[in-house]
Amino acid sequence: MGDRSMQEIPPDILQALQSWKIAFDTLRSGLALLKDTKDLLSAPQRDEVETRIAELDLEVKVAEAALAKSLGYPLHRCQFPPTIMINVGYTRNGDAVHECPVCGVTDHPGFSFTRTAPSRDRPTA
Ligand SMILES: [Zn+2]
Repeated sequence: MGDRSMQEIPPDILQALQSWKIAFDTLRSGLALLKDTKDLLSAPQRDEVETRIAELDLEVKVAEAALAKSLGYPLHRCQFPPTIMINVGYTRNGDAVHECPVCGVTDHPGFSFTRTAPSRDRPTA
């Protein structure tokens, strides 16, 4: 998230956002730990844990998308849960241009714009 988009958000909301981010990060590291240790479990337990991890993963993504939308970030529906589009530059008219970090689509298709963000990292898959 660039500074340009953050400037429009009131400080109390920003603080709440920060708390959410910490909560998400904590949840994520918990999930990562579970993923690392699940192989030590017996097969039925492992299946159960894997199911729960998948559910939690999705819940976190949905919550993040909802949070992003409430803050005014556009969402791209190329997958579910939707991807949070981030500010990457501006058009000649000064309109903000948002880009989907997953598929690279912008909300000003076909128009050239001044890019202020670094180029999108393409997955090497
Ligand atoms: Zn997309």
